[in-house]
Amino acid sequence: RDPQPPADAQDPSVASSVAWMERGRAVIPGGVNSPVRAFGAVGGDPRFITSAQGAHLTDADGNEYIDLVGSWGPMILGHTHPEVLDAVTSAAARGFSFGTPNPHEVELAEEIVSRIEPVEAVRLVNSGTEAIMSALRLARGVTGREKVIKFSGNYHGHVDALLASAGSGLITFALPDSAGVPASSAGQTMVLPYNDVQALEAAFAEHGAELAAVIVEAAAGNMGVVPPTADFEQALRRLTREHGALLISDEVMTGFRASPTGWWGLSQMGEAPDLFTFGKVVGGGFPVAAFGGRADVMAHLAPAGPVYQAGTLSGNPVAATAGLTTLRLCTDEVYTAVDHAREVLTGAVTEAFTRHGIPHTIGRAGTMFSVFFGDQPVHDFATAQQQDTARHAEFFHAMLRRGVHLPPSAFEAWFASAAHTDEVLDRIVEAIHASAQEIS
Ligand code: PLP
Repeated sequence: RDPQPPADAQDPSVASSVAWMERGRAVIPGGVNSPVRAFGAVGGDPRFITSAQGAHLTDADGNEYIDLVGSWGPMILGHTHPEVLDAVTSAAARGFSFGTPNPHEVELAEEIVSRIEPVEAVRLVNSGTEAIMSALRLARGVTGREKVIKFSGNYHGHVDALLASAGSGLITFALPDSAGVPASSAGQTMVLPYNDVQALEAAFAEHGAELAAVIVEAAAGNMGVVPPTADFEQALRRLTREHGALLISDEVMTGFRASPTGWWGLSQMGEAPDLFTFGKVVGGGFPVAAFGGRADVMAHLAPAGPVYQAGTLSGNPVAATAGLTTLRLCTDEVYTAVDHAREVLTGAVTEAFTRHGIPHTIGRAGTMFSVFFGDQPVHDFATAQQQDTARHAEFFHAMLRRGVHLPPSAFEAWFASAAHTDEVLDRIVEAIHASAQEIS
């Protein structure tokens, strides 16, 4: 097989996007404000999107795409939902930011607390990264300990302590994953294989008394979608409780997405984690995230408690309105529609890839799903990495040429929305079959 390289730079139909990328590169590192947008894993030039409606994106050249990125998760209702737009417009007309408490932030906090039973109190912040950073500080403040455990292939934003990879030994402290992360910061983090109960038990046996927290993606979505086993979830809860460490469940991606109550609604953990983090859907496309959990733990935060955390724009009235309106519109019907999209799309991938001899495995956590370009069972980062990323890149471009915008990385979930109607799904299914044939 000769992979067809994308020829975006010479393609007149995307000339405006190519020109914008050139302008962007002159003033923004790599031309993007978040690295994965640069198409580094798939080649070619990213499309500059100028508007989005329902399941569709329109680029700077006027090309339309069916969107399966969904802004990396938030757009569960589809783009520019009319009721969210109305609510945001009228909130903005009343003022952009007050720097005082406001009713919208209370209502959004109430909505989160009422939907996720173990979350008794919540604080709003501006990004998932900030939610994680704050939850980690809170766990360290509450326990008076510094060390944390994270898992390979789990992504928790670009927090220093968590931008860390496993060292070479079985149980070692981590190495920085990025230049600029102090070894002392990454060195407080142990990175263990995901879904590995034995490694977790060994780490607690050796370091249990020093551990402030274990942080885990509730169901992993950043190495492709890899759900936790029931044994792993139960070991997480049992060991953290026994050793006095807090368990932080990162639901930035899964929250209000994997099910109406996020992964927690599907979890087999039994007893709830101490802290949760949310983002993406909780802001409906605006910069809102949150961390919350047990009231006695959250009570350690300033102003009443000793753990400092703050934000000029936290609880911003316009952003909080977007999140609140989105969550209120996230009815059971929305999750039924998103799960229907999952079923149709994974069914089409399975049929088309099987017919054309393309090795594949579907990852699934509730309504969340991804496609691995390999046929080995995937249960951790090592097995997720066995896939053929070059083949994913070919498939990505074959789909893009047919007007379907997939996530530009083999390690990302495909995000469908309630706006992916049967008519839209039919068009994607057609593109899947044609693209599978093309790359076979
Ligand atoms: N945690 C998880 C599970 C995520 O998927 C992400 C982002 O993709 C983050 C944290 C970081 O969120 P943000 O990009 O809003 O900082």
